[in-house]
Amino acid sequence: MTHDSRLTTTRFPVWHPFTQMQVFVEENPPVIVAGEEFDLIDDHANRYLDGVSSLWCNVFGHRVPEIDSAIKRQVDRISHTTLLGLQSDVSIELAQKLVSVTPEGLNHVFYSDAGATSVEAALKIAIQYHAQKERPQKRHMFVRLSDAYHGDTIGSVSVGRMETFHHFYAPLLFETINVPSPGLSPLPQGQTRQTFYEDCLQQLEQAINRHREEIAAVIIEPIVQGAAGVFVHPPGYLTRLRELTTQHGILLIADEVAVGFGKTGTLFACQQENVTPDILCLAKGLTGGYLPLAATLTTSEIYDAFLGPPSARRTFFHGHTFTGNPLGCAAAIATLDLFATRPVLEQVATSEQILQDKLSPLIGHPHVREIRQKGIMVGIDIVKNKATGELFDPSLRQEHAIVREARKRGVIIRALGNVLFLMPAVAMPSELVRQLAEVTVESFTHVMRDD
Ligand SMILES: *Cc1c(COP(=O)(O)O)cnc(C)c1O
Repeated sequence: MTHDSRLTTTRFPVWHPFTQMQVFVEENPPVIVAGEEFDLIDDHANRYLDGVSSLWCNVFGHRVPEIDSAIKRQVDRISHTTLLGLQSDVSIELAQKLVSVTPEGLNHVFYSDAGATSVEAALKIAIQYHAQKERPQKRHMFVRLSDAYHGDTIGSVSVGRMETFHHFYAPLLFETINVPSPGLSPLPQGQTRQTFYEDCLQQLEQAINRHREEIAAVIIEPIVQGAAGVFVHPPGYLTRLRELTTQHGILLIADEVAVGFGKTGTLFACQQENVTPDILCLAKGLTGGYLPLAATLTTSEIYDAFLGPPSARRTFFHGHTFTGNPLGCAAAIATLDLFATRPVLEQVATSEQILQDKLSPLIGHPHVREIRQKGIMVGIDIVKNKATGELFDPSLRQEHAIVREARKRGVIIRALGNVLFLMPAVAMPSELVRQLAEVTVESFTHVMRDD
């Protein structure tokens, strides 16, 4: 088959993200035209259970009356006004609400529109903060964890770097200090979780000690590294990281773009260890998964370091045109109100148990190396050979075959590399979570039946 882009542009004018269009065009995935509660609906009126919460965003389902009407009310007032030189009522109200629900000490909200931009803002704030402190310091280095993912802009790729995604851009990226992820899985040969964890702590301490005068911040996806394949950190790591960073005047940036808004069982993952980061990045679930809005929260200590007369040149010269968009803010306020009034974190605990129980038949399967899970974040690690860890030939697209099999059965899941991801919405009811897990097991077993 030849691939003439001219033949396909009329039907496929959209260049999809993270997508090999040549395969995509042949496969012609469903065209989604609507949603209802936890379902997506295509142009042939087929329904699919949204098993990845529309890429880890959706919280209360689709077309939630409270969020819908908040946005409609806002449309009837104003859809966009700038935060450059003007204020807006909804951006103030949302900031107040965010300050009150996030860990104590985060008092200021800088808005942007994506997870990646919330991280970019965090990195620049960290560098400028150190330069503007009472006793200024030139700190220019960031510490990152291996297999971290913080978005796809150049700064966020620099502190992330997943080899498959990013190798072309290496010449553009700034240098960082890399420490091993204590959630790495499977473990290197001969290590137990405990010995590996001790190794990770030691390497973290050494890196910080060696570079303590140069490090501006450590950036981490707290508790769970999502895109890495659901790498769950052992309890205590975040606490120890907070101690070390505080001790050396290094900022701690928590990227809760994925884990925030309930996914690990607490509203924010940092709350599992009662840790307050210096900077907190939020996006994905912030608007209930409706609209592109992000927030970078900081302590007053950081905010204050940017104050002074214009001549002092302490201004944070950074922003995006749609910063603090009122429709996004209205959706986010409605989302936080729903968190305050509905027992959804209890649902996360229930869903966690259902997923664990219903996926357990896969644990003994010869092609499942392990299932990693925290809250409603699940990664099923698929291998050709469990003993050697050999993966399937990528050209077989085995993981994707499972995704397609699930789609035939009316369920949307997604694979990244050799890992199959399940990420139900925080508020997905138990019977649908059960269906999600059951269809995953059936689809997996069906695809692997001949091996
Ligand atoms: C998705 C994600 C991002 C990037 O968010 P975008 O809105 O896609 O830019 C950043 N950090 C983490 C941890 C994420 O999971």
